[in-house]
Amino acid sequence: MRTIKKELALLMAGCCVLAILLTWISINVTVNKEFNKYMLSIQNRKYNSVVEYLKNVYEKNDKWEVSSGTEMIHEAYMGNYCLTLYDSDKKVIWGMDPNDPKFNEHMQHMNVSRGVYNSKTFEIVSNNKIVGYVDIGQYSALLLSDEDLNFKKSINISIVMSCLFITFIIVIISIYFSKRFSRPIKEISNISVRLSNGDLSARSNIDSNIKEVEDLRSSINLLGDKLNNQDKIRKRLVSDISHEIRTPLNILQNNLEAMIDGVFPMTIESLSSLNDEVIRFSKLVDNINVLKTFEERSLEAKFEDVNLVDIISKVCEEFDILARQNNIEIIIESNCEEDYFIKGDRDKIKQVFINLISNAIKFTEVKFKSGGGKVEVKIFKENQKTIVEVGDNGIGISEDDIDFIFESMYRGDKSRNIIEGSGIGLTVVKDILLLHSASIEVKSQEGEGSSFKIVF
Ligand code: ADP
Repeated sequence: MRTIKKELALLMAGCCVLAILLTWISINVTVNKEFNKYMLSIQNRKYNSVVEYLKNVYEKNDKWEVSSGTEMIHEAYMGNYCLTLYDSDKKVIWGMDPNDPKFNEHMQHMNVSRGVYNSKTFEIVSNNKIVGYVDIGQYSALLLSDEDLNFKKSINISIVMSCLFITFIIVIISIYFSKRFSRPIKEISNISVRLSNGDLSARSNIDSNIKEVEDLRSSINLLGDKLNNQDKIRKRLVSDISHEIRTPLNILQNNLEAMIDGVFPMTIESLSSLNDEVIRFSKLVDNINVLKTFEERSLEAKFEDVNLVDIISKVCEEFDILARQNNIEIIIESNCEEDYFIKGDRDKIKQVFINLISNAIKFTEVKFKSGGGKVEVKIFKENQKTIVEVGDNGIGISEDDIDFIFESMYRGDKSRNIIEGSGIGLTVVKDILLLHSASIEVKSQEGEGSSFKIVF
């Protein structure tokens, strides 16, 4: 299996090399085509100048002689072409032999490959009269000099060199970018392996400017946080449950032993106090069951138009006596001109406020034994959303506990020791609100009070 870095580098480098190859081929073809076109025009000009020269030679004597224009033979050898001069009756005056080995030697010396011999006949016209013909033949399609060939070669070499140089640069850039791109992904994959191996403190710190990678990084970090929290909660739950179970069991065991030894009398009172412990013990087991049953049933909801003010007023009424007994004032605040209807399951929404208001009373009551406790429920609208805030001036929640209070069976430090409860009230609240697409957040100051804000 290949690494993402290698795969990316190969892909990028491959694409670039292919692009360079195609560019090189197209440049090469175009340059060669244009160069040959240019050389052909030079060649034609040369042929015209040969015809012109021979015409001038003829016009000097007004006739052909055996040596007319023979001075051109040397130049023709050097230029790799072959000349034959004819008079107006197409009789040969003089001519070069195309099979002369001198041609071969010279062509080899110039590195020109010998092709098929081709010739073309031009008319020599003087005073509007054809006075002769010249036949120009050659072995290659183009007559190229040493300089021409060197020029062509150096252009090709420079194209190849620049292609190689660009390829080298591109390979380096591909390696750099694939490394940069794959580094956070590699790190995230390492983090997930560490998390799955139980190292719950593993987090990714390498930022990426690629949105999907950044999303993946924050998700894996969030997953790490959640696993870490779950682990803490699990440990705490185990210690809480074992503590809660051990206490009634110890009391039962000590008292029963004392009764067996005859130290403690077996009266109705002592037996009923032992029964209380058994009840407390079974309540704990019941609480675990309540949560399980709720989670199973939470998906069944009957949605209808529900008036929040009605429900909240009813719940406050039900808690009124308890609140008065504990010198706590319950205040409801809402704008009577507005209606606060939401689509929801009446019973489940009622359960939310029962849990929140009972908590507010429970955690305020312990602070204000002789009056001054206050539970405030505010209903209002903000950005077309219905908001309910349940606030109190009770004992508040410590910073250590605040992140965990919505977890099932979680109970704050103080509540574990002083106040009775099961640690499932807020879990139920959160689950019901989730079912209604509503959110809940908490603000609290230890010793000052708490405020739960629900946004429907
Ligand atoms: P319980 O009340 O049975 O302990 P909950 O799930 O209702 O369980 O609450 C979880 C924890 O959140 C409580 O143990 C307590 O520490 C904290 N809490 C909830 N509501 C309040 C509040 N109004 N004031 C202070 N602490 C609160």
